[in-house]
Amino acid sequence: MTRIPVREAQENSQLHEFRNQVNDALAAFDEKDFERWEQERHTPREVPAALGRAGVFRRRWEHGAEQGLPQLVTMAQELYRSSSGAAVVAMGHSEIFIGALRWLGETPYQLSLLEEALDGKTIGCFGATEPHGGSNLRGLRTTATAVEGGWRLRGCKRYISNVGRADYILVLAKPENPAHVSDLSLFLLPLDHPGVSVDGFFDTVGLRGCDAGQVTFDATLQSDALLGKPSIGLLYATHLLQFERLAICAQLTAAADTALRLAVAYARRRTTGDARIMDKQAIRHRLATCRAELWNLESRLAELVGVAQRSGRMPAHEISALKLTAGDITGRIIDTALQIFGARGYSTNFPVERLWRDARLSRLGGGTDEVLADLVASGLDRRDPVSDELLSRLEALDVPAYPLGHHD
Ligand SMILES: Cc1cc2nc3c(=O)[nH]c(=O)nc-3n(C[C@H](O)[C@H](O)[C@H](O)COP(=O)(O)OP(=O)(O)OC[C@H]3O[C@@H](n4cnc5c(N)ncnc54)[C@H](O)[C@@H]3O)c2cc1C
Repeated sequence: MTRIPVREAQENSQLHEFRNQVNDALAAFDEKDFERWEQERHTPREVPAALGRAGVFRRRWEHGAEQGLPQLVTMAQELYRSSSGAAVVAMGHSEIFIGALRWLGETPYQLSLLEEALDGKTIGCFGATEPHGGSNLRGLRTTATAVEGGWRLRGCKRYISNVGRADYILVLAKPENPAHVSDLSLFLLPLDHPGVSVDGFFDTVGLRGCDAGQVTFDATLQSDALLGKPSIGLLYATHLLQFERLAICAQLTAAADTALRLAVAYARRRTTGDARIMDKQAIRHRLATCRAELWNLESRLAELVGVAQRSGRMPAHEISALKLTAGDITGRIIDTALQIFGARGYSTNFPVERLWRDARLSRLGGGTDEVLADLVASGLDRRDPVSDELLSRLEALDVPAYPLGHHD
């Protein structure tokens, strides 16, 4: 995609250096490569490997999960501006696979995997979704059975990003006879292990630079394939998904910024009659509204990063709320850009149609709009003594204002 560089005015020198580090790693590839990955429907392993070699993943994680969020945002935005596929590959590898190993890894095998992942020598992806559904993780059917010396993992995961080029999939599975519906655990499954088969890939509307495939497995694994403690895998996955959601929000702001800036440039150049379309109020005001909405999103993203850094914990409800609105708002901004470009916006000669197709995934992946809205609503549906008390007083005073005949 034609790359519009980010505005760097308010960036501190550390982050500026990190941005350069990401771009230096990407310098080995050019626009023809980005285009070829879209045609081939895979981002080559060489991309996360180059990021690893350049120290990008180590730098993102060196000060901790929350302290490294500015680097997460920068990495997501920079990669997305070049290749949405590469951004998704790096997100799954860094925020879920490395994030899980760094948080939960204990055994020599797990710790050596972490080192390889940080260097980009081993690449990971994440498998929660199954053919019968992805929103309800409590309903997963993949099973993990304790056998002598390890585990037998049986199941099928579907729509898994980068399963075609990764080495490992982090699998969410339940026991054959779970004690309760949330009894899930996380497992490290090598994709070249006997009994594991990547069945193929789905053709998708957008994000074609990253494969989305299906993997089926009946595999016997060593005991330390289990990552973290058994039965609390859902809690682990829910926490890790907060990082993915923030990365998606960062990707979306990059996409919307590119689309909006292009649309403004076009509106200033394109004329209708003897006026620029930028001079038409219908266009001008739409662009202004888009700019205002994008500023709001960018500010909120920066604010949540700051909250997480200061408190050392991820504000889960706020992050879900941000992703819920970011998907909708950026979708509208990019749609407006496409509209302003007229037929050119719909043509593949201009990058707006691709941004438009790519952005749509955000309302499904990493938690659908409906699932996120439910999460936010669960935070709302609580007692609020101040408002409850005020409402009681208002209700007590809720009587007719004037007696009969007052104005007669
Ligand atoms: C390109 C692509 C890449 C992906 N990458 C990955 C990946 O790397 N790893 C992975 O695990 N998954 C991945 N997914 C899967 C994605 O996470 C799921 O599609 C998503 O979680 C929804 O699951 P589902 O498609 O099975 O829809 P379903 O769960 O069947 O839901 C269908 C619809 O019903 C709605 N719905 C479901 N439950 C409720 C409810 N309780 N209340 C109201 N509405 C509800 C949903 O919001 C949705 O609109 C990917 C998907 C795509 C398309």
